[in-house]
Amino acid sequence: MINIPKGTKDVLPYESYKWHYIENIVREITQKYGFLEIRTPTFEHTELFLRGVGETTDIVNKEMYTFIDKGNRSITLKPEGTAGVARSFVENGLSENPQPMKMYYITPVFRYERPQAGRLREHHQFGVELYGSDSPYADVEVISVAKNLFNALGITELELNINSIGCPVCRAEYNKALKEYLKEHIDGMCATCKERLDKNPLRILDCKEERCKAVNVNAPRVIDYLCDDCKQHHESVKSILTSLGIQFKVNPNIVRGLDYYTKTVFEFVSTSIGAQGTVCGGGRYNNLVKEVGGKPTPAVGFGMGIERLLMVLEALNLGVGAPEIPSVYIAPLSSDQMLDAYKLVAELRSKNVSADTDIMGRSLKAQMKYAGKRGYAYVVVLGENEINEGKAKIKIMATGEEVAVELNKLAEEISRR
Ligand code: ATP
Ligand code: MG
Repeated sequence: MINIPKGTKDVLPYESYKWHYIENIVREITQKYGFLEIRTPTFEHTELFLRGVGETTDIVNKEMYTFIDKGNRSITLKPEGTAGVARSFVENGLSENPQPMKMYYITPVFRYERPQAGRLREHHQFGVELYGSDSPYADVEVISVAKNLFNALGITELELNINSIGCPVCRAEYNKALKEYLKEHIDGMCATCKERLDKNPLRILDCKEERCKAVNVNAPRVIDYLCDDCKQHHESVKSILTSLGIQFKVNPNIVRGLDYYTKTVFEFVSTSIGAQGTVCGGGRYNNLVKEVGGKPTPAVGFGMGIERLLMVLEALNLGVGAPEIPSVYIAPLSSDQMLDAYKLVAELRSKNVSADTDIMGRSLKAQMKYAGKRGYAYVVVLGENEINEGKAKIKIMATGEEVAVELNKLAEEISRR
């Protein structure tokens, strides 16, 4: 037997309805907000992620699925959703469209990580991207999409943590202070962080190693070094959120794992699914579009892990939709009625009634057992008499009750119920 690769998962036929449930709500909400779907390729030139995610990040350093294709190009499977959108925005001249450009995606994401609960090598993200506005209202717009999605799913326990990591101007000052502090403690830190000290000290604050976390607790905080513009932006985001009744906590320790962030960063964190509790992470990245070759364009967005979202729903015993079963099963009494049953099912389907019949050649008894197991709401037995008279009985499976119906009115009768 060939096994599934480590860190990947099948979504099996009897559980895919949970994904549809989430995806349908995602589409409803993004539509309400006027976000349009963008689909970008599953793989891109490696160069895009080096520039668009950043060479000092964990993602680029340790986690990318990179390979040389037959044309000798370095190709990487998407390790996140944003860089591809930025590439597409620039390449397709989307800045020529009315701004802001509000986009969303649902995509598989590939990261070579140590598999554990809530951490896969292929996972899926729902993300939104708002390009063209530097207003704090854009930050709030994006945060509010996530908040609304959680509300629609009935999740109230997620805590919104926000922070600002400033812009290149204020971060220069901050980096100096941070480096000074970290230099004194570097001996106790992991090898990766030692390397990061010169290149990108801010990244160190995002390290998940316990010994590094211990040092980071007392490090200077970027939020204390914001320039006037960044400070003003941060205050505005907070005050708009407050006015809207969206609760949050300022968490100066959030720096996010990606290099392209500026100003606002945020996370929605769950306490119900263990150590990998961050369900959604996002923020502003005003320098990304320029970084991938476009003209400077402010942008803000988030990525949300769908597997973690599902874990939260299940941990909290919240609804995850209902199994998808056709509503009516037509049971031919014997093989003589199989064709009539099949024709009836075709007619029902053409009238938008989901219907099924026997294609196994089962006895009536075996069919009834099957229908019960699958959970059809209605069963109609079709024998010679039913066909000759054009009449049959609908068995309502929930109650066992039977209702007489003319076969040519079956679709209407089922739809009415
Ligand atoms: P973490 O700190 O848990 O590694 P991250 O900062 O790397 O997360 P992002 O790059 O912001 O995560 O991705 C957005 C969201 O995607 C995360 O908040 C999480 O819900 C989900 N996610 C990230 N990596 C994984 C993974 N390996 N398996 C499952 N979900 C993931
Ligand atoms: Mg990660």
